[in-house]
Amino acid sequence: MPPKIPLVDLKAQYESIREDIDSAIRRVLDHRAFIRGPEVDSFEKEFAEWCGAKYCAGVGSGTEAIYLALRALGVGRDHNVITSPHTFIATTEAITLTGAETRFVDTLPDTFNLDPDLLEQAIDSNTRAIVPVHLNGHPARMDEILPIAERENLIVIEDAAQAHGAIYKGKNAGTLSEAGCFSFFPGKNLGAYGDAGAVVSNDDGLIEKIRKISNHGRSEKYIHDIEGFNFRMDSLQAAILRAKLPHLNGWIEKRREKARRYSDLLQGIKGLTLPVEEDECLSAWHLYVIQVDRRDECLEELNAKGIQAGIHYPIPLHLQPAYAYLGYPVGSFPVAERVAKKILSLPLYPEISDEQQVYVAKCLIQFFTA
Ligand SMILES: *Cc1c(COP(=O)(O)O)cnc(C)c1O
Repeated sequence: MPPKIPLVDLKAQYESIREDIDSAIRRVLDHRAFIRGPEVDSFEKEFAEWCGAKYCAGVGSGTEAIYLALRALGVGRDHNVITSPHTFIATTEAITLTGAETRFVDTLPDTFNLDPDLLEQAIDSNTRAIVPVHLNGHPARMDEILPIAERENLIVIEDAAQAHGAIYKGKNAGTLSEAGCFSFFPGKNLGAYGDAGAVVSNDDGLIEKIRKISNHGRSEKYIHDIEGFNFRMDSLQAAILRAKLPHLNGWIEKRREKARRYSDLLQGIKGLTLPVEEDECLSAWHLYVIQVDRRDECLEELNAKGIQAGIHYPIPLHLQPAYAYLGYPVGSFPVAERVAKKILSLPLYPEISDEQQVYVAKCLIQFFTA
């Protein structure tokens, strides 16, 4: 039997902090403030501080965070919003839910983030916002994106769902624009034990508005200033996230260490391209993504050897059936389309062992030298 190496190992993490988690859950059962209440209030403060942002609104998921940030900033019908086609569909679902239309621009070949050089030509008079995604935990080129947005009078919000702890020129991803949107989906760098998300911002008016929309437009009990919805963060999840937050910097350090180790083990293999970090960027290494020839064959071989590698994401969004209505033919975004056929995410989590990484590397080297 080959060893089993999962893509992420949530059991190993739980075992390392079991006492903290169990007592956080017990605390909520004891005070029984299940909806909003002190856990969510405290998490919002603690997470904002951790990010280096002034304010935070806890919400139900990362998808909701993106939607709420866009809506609270006035994005809606008759607008279009620019993002990359190489992301999870949540980014564009959130855009569509505001009533706006998604407009894609192609990606950079090394980091898979939005290519700022292609932005200007995609902007028209209905463009209202840009949503750069810090994909795989690597920061987007904000210093090129933000001046274009400013010149064109556009809103920028970051999809930082994969980028807790990513650093761009000394600042945390998610704090570089009007608002940063985080996901606490269990497998993310900071994961709840269910769905949760957050928006961080230095604009208290914006965060207040997001809190209000996410809580039925309520200013006080049974007074509804506007029609909102239920997009609240669950208090049990907030308590779990509070228990995990003190460990997050250590986990991100571990990810960096393990990513460096992969890069040492895998350098110089013909047919295999290593992930990069751009100047003045520190990736949060949500995923360690290599590019390989014969990707599907390679993935099959790794799976057969007990290695749960993955593909994030196999089909660019403009080619998904759900976006046929946008009318982008094959060939619209050649970089994103080419990269989607070559990317392969290797197992990476703070607890992955040296032996596990050596085994993954050995299997890859065998595949490419056979
Ligand atoms: C996970 C993710 C989201 C959505 O977050 P959920 O909490 O699952 O709703 C959005 N964008 C990206 C890039 C993601 O990876």
